[in-house]
Amino acid sequence: MNDSDYTHYWFDTEFIEDGTVVIPLSIGIVCEDGRELYLEWYQDDLKLAKANEFVVANVFPHLRWKNGDPSAQRWHYEIRNELIEFVNAGAKRPLFWAWYATYDWMVMCQTFGNMTDLPQNWPMFPMDLRAIIEWEGGKRRFALPSQEGTAHEALDDARHLKAMYDHLGYMRKLEFERKVDADLRTSNALVASIEKRVHALYVPVVPTAGPTPSGWYRRTDEQEPSQSTQE
Ligand SMILES: [Mg+2]
Repeated sequence: MNDSDYTHYWFDTEFIEDGTVVIPLSIGIVCEDGRELYLEWYQDDLKLAKANEFVVANVFPHLRWKNGDPSAQRWHYEIRNELIEFVNAGAKRPLFWAWYATYDWMVMCQTFGNMTDLPQNWPMFPMDLRAIIEWEGGKRRFALPSQEGTAHEALDDARHLKAMYDHLGYMRKLEFERKVDADLRTSNALVASIEKRVHALYVPVVPTAGPTPSGWYRRTDEQEPSQSTQE
């Protein structure tokens, strides 16, 4: 994958699931060009009643319509249309990032119907930053930043996801630079060792005019260092 082939999007969803169905509540999405979108689904009371204790305690309090602000609420088809408009306004084809992406991707896919109904030119897979971090050595290796916004609020979660993505990129760049530095030190040490050996065997020819050596001649006044004294 070439990073620059895509316009990157970081998204998060909040939902109710009972082991059989996934009922979407909200979606937050952040584009690499700085645009953001946050939408909440209209859901009827029968569906909302399926929420488990975790969702009631951790997700419901952050839904804007439950706090008297219905401005983000949309019907399902409106969310579908606004998502397409938002994502397709990106410069290149989209690549979607999520955190524990499986359920979020299910919500994304079902916004359009089933998996095969995803908009044209959208990938049929999400990038799961959590899985990639595990693959790269685990959360401890990267000392991820803590969340600044509200956890379980889809837009704040999407922003945090991007912050973690940026941090991961920064850490990888740092590790790469450290490796380059280490390689450079090894190379410098090798060059110094070769120079020392050459100087043990050869002396520069210094011309009468000017300080620059014009050549080298092999030492004849000294024994070549024995194997045991070589670096
Ligand atoms: Mg969330």
